[in-house]
Amino acid sequence: NNKIKIGIVGYGNLGKGAVEAIHTTNDLELVAIFTRRNPENLKLNIPNVKALHVDDAEKYKDKIDVMLLCGGSATDLPEQVPHFAQFFNTVDSYDNHAQIPNFFQSVNEVARQNQTTSIISVGWDPGLFSVNRVMADAILPNGENYTFWGKGLSQGHSDAIRRVNGVKDGVQYTIPSDEAIEKVRSGVNPTLETADKHIRVCYVVPEEGADRAKIEHDIKTMPNYFADYTTDVYFITEEELARDHSKAPHGGFVIRGGETSNGHKHIYEFSLKLDSNPEFTASVLVAYARAAYRLNQEKQFGAKTVFDVAPSYISPRSAEQLRKDFL
Ligand code: NDP
Repeated sequence: NNKIKIGIVGYGNLGKGAVEAIHTTNDLELVAIFTRRNPENLKLNIPNVKALHVDDAEKYKDKIDVMLLCGGSATDLPEQVPHFAQFFNTVDSYDNHAQIPNFFQSVNEVARQNQTTSIISVGWDPGLFSVNRVMADAILPNGENYTFWGKGLSQGHSDAIRRVNGVKDGVQYTIPSDEAIEKVRSGVNPTLETADKHIRVCYVVPEEGADRAKIEHDIKTMPNYFADYTTDVYFITEEELARDHSKAPHGGFVIRGGETSNGHKHIYEFSLKLDSNPEFTASVLVAYARAAYRLNQEKQFGAKTVFDVAPSYISPRSAEQLRKDFL
């Protein structure tokens, strides 16, 4: 068959989301999932898909067109992407914004040498939000970009509240401030710090007999995490936590307020509201796998970002069909 053959490296939230996303396509086929753990322990039960150890991946060089790298950004991807780019076209979701230029360079070197194509930092932010920041800035040069995140569950901040004395369990949501969003939408282009743009809401399950006032105080004054923000703390039961807070929602807004002649104001706004951050992010990676394959067929080797990929490259539809359906 002439389907694009896909492999997945790393079977966490993103890896699982990628399996689902590939199954919804007609032009992609999942061949194997590679893990650093014992592959038998993944308990995969997907017809025609193998679970294998990462050390065996190289043998699949000619059987896989694009490898989706679904490891974590902190330590996995900086190692895994340059490694796998030796053998495969790759797509990853590296999201450490400050380190992206270095990451690009290290992947670009390997991919160019080996005539592979790697699209880096794909997802929604970085990813779709980045594309919209570029479009808005190019179209309305006289203006200002704003990015708001949320409502979103933050893993790092949830971990932080769980470490507070007297806390049994808990989650933290980052929520964009309505007041700040309305100000931006009004076109006045205000000066806003991250802490002005977002509030933090914590749902905490206290240990029995714990001092709630002290927990609230310890959370709200925690440096770096909460001290600079407006933070709300709500106490809930374990049952409520399980019932109401087990999804991984996220999303946000990219808004640019810009001006053209005669003081005419324009608001460019793109937003996402996601029930499941990893499932959506994986769906973006899967769409960009088509682009990695097609660019490689055109001998466009090296590292690329979402800025380098034309929309038609990520679509399963032909150029003719796209003109008919979506122009
Ligand atoms: P996970 O922590 O779920 O998975 C990361 C890796 O950890 C996996 O690839 C897996 O590797 C290993 N792992 C997973 N579960 C277990 C387990 N039970 N025991 C031991 N190891 C395990 O991370 P996510 O999939 O949620 O996210 C991956 C990255 O995606 C994040 O670091 C984030 O930076 C990025 N991201 C980017 C976004 C964007 O918009 N650009 C949006 C969302 C996320 P292995 O199978 O080899 O053990």
